[in-house]
Amino acid sequence: MAHGLHHRHQYLPFESADKNKADTASAASLTSQNHLNVLDKAQRHHSATHNFSAKYVPLDTISTNFTTTESYSLDEIVYRSRSGGLLDVQHDMEALKQFDGQYWKSLFDSRVGNITWPYGSGVWSKKEWVLPEINSDDIVSAFEGNSNLFWAERFGQQVLGMHDLWVKHCGISHTGSFKDLGMTVLVSQVNRLRKMNRPLVGVGCASTGDTSASLSAYCAAANIPSIVFLPANKISMAQLVQPIANGAFVVSIDTNFDGCMKLIREVTAELPIYLPHSLNSLRLEGQKTAAIEILQQFDWQVPDWVIVPGGNLGNIYAFYKGFKMCQELGCVDRVPRLVCAQAANANPLYLHYKSGWSEFQPVKATSTFASAIQIGDPVSIDRAVFALKNANGIVEEATEEELMDAMALADSNGMFVCPHTGVALSALIKIRNSGIIGPTYRTVVVSTAHGLKFTQSKIDYHSKKIEDMTCQFANPPVQVKPDFGAVMDVLSKCLKKA
Ligand SMILES: *Cc1c(COP(=O)(O)O)cnc(C)c1O
Repeated sequence: MAHGLHHRHQYLPFESADKNKADTASAASLTSQNHLNVLDKAQRHHSATHNFSAKYVPLDTISTNFTTTESYSLDEIVYRSRSGGLLDVQHDMEALKQFDGQYWKSLFDSRVGNITWPYGSGVWSKKEWVLPEINSDDIVSAFEGNSNLFWAERFGQQVLGMHDLWVKHCGISHTGSFKDLGMTVLVSQVNRLRKMNRPLVGVGCASTGDTSASLSAYCAAANIPSIVFLPANKISMAQLVQPIANGAFVVSIDTNFDGCMKLIREVTAELPIYLPHSLNSLRLEGQKTAAIEILQQFDWQVPDWVIVPGGNLGNIYAFYKGFKMCQELGCVDRVPRLVCAQAANANPLYLHYKSGWSEFQPVKATSTFASAIQIGDPVSIDRAVFALKNANGIVEEATEEELMDAMALADSNGMFVCPHTGVALSALIKIRNSGIIGPTYRTVVVSTAHGLKFTQSKIDYHSKKIEDMTCQFANPPVQVKPDFGAVMDVLSKCLKKA
């Protein structure tokens, strides 16, 4: 508590300065005065914390303790290390360690619900650990994060005999998926680079789902052109509508997803377009704040297990990194055990884990309702393996029937989750049944997208229209004639059942 008080005292001089300013600005409206004060405060705070810094380093310098002098400023446009490997954002931990765990916990807690730009965002409330050097003016935020940690009391008790089960709803967010947590960081950095007159004409991606939705929303908010390459006639309206509505330049190409990816790579070799794809480690800095937020929501107690659905495998690493940073900086004393959950139709990490981490083999992913994780050759495989080895982690898989049943069960217990969350929930059911997760373990399932983005899969399930699937928890509507007797008949039948 002493640290919290100390922290508030630091603000006092700014607050009185703001007051003087407000007194003289009598012509301005109350709203714009408040806005000025808020910006002023944020800027002063920024200059007080300027000694924190971060840079890109090759991921393998972290995972193997291999020393190299290779590093890049975050203001450089670079996606891979010299040897072609992944990069990671490395923070100046010595500078951060000048403050103890209690300081950071109090600081982050004091910013929850704060209206001071940009700290009301769950990502930017941890700005010093995310992008410490960016000017708050350059940040593009939709106040993402601070998402609901739902106590899945009924689901836990009825399905699993657990009373301490929680679902972290990362998809209750601006564009309906956790991708917003990373995109606010990436687009903010692009905004900064453009203001520094770096020659970036825009940001382009070949994703069809949540990444393009998030990218186009944040770019539109900052007036940065965004370009989305889509395979013609292979995309549903629901996936198309967000980038179209947000004014992205949508290019429809007569090829598949891989073809789009190849083309956008070729285009970026010729034109200064920034790539927000999964190679880019900036997004993971924002995504890792969801892990910090979970600890914060448990009053800094560490859960026993955290289960994350994985496709390109950046997010599982981001969660590890968030937990690990909290441990290294003294906020908590351990990291939770991690589970990465994959669809059986796109399970290269699961097979790699089952083989005892021997040679990694990409697979040919086949169609899954969990469409955002239908990836056979994940970009962040090295990140995921590193995270799982260091968090005593395990990998589990779910068939189409298992994931759809788990999703339907969760929904019938008061949630409304996406199929990816269904994958994570069925992984939990299996691990719980095997006895590895006991009935009293505090467990968090990460929900990655809003269920409303995936209504077609729920409609198919509840109308029992899915081939080779029983759809045992389907709850189709009952068709009745517009007649009092007929309505009473079906109601009394239904009430007898209950
Ligand atoms: C992107 C995405 C994932 C997969 O995250 P990775 O970092 O690629 O493993 C899972 N669920 C949803 C809804 C997504 O949009």
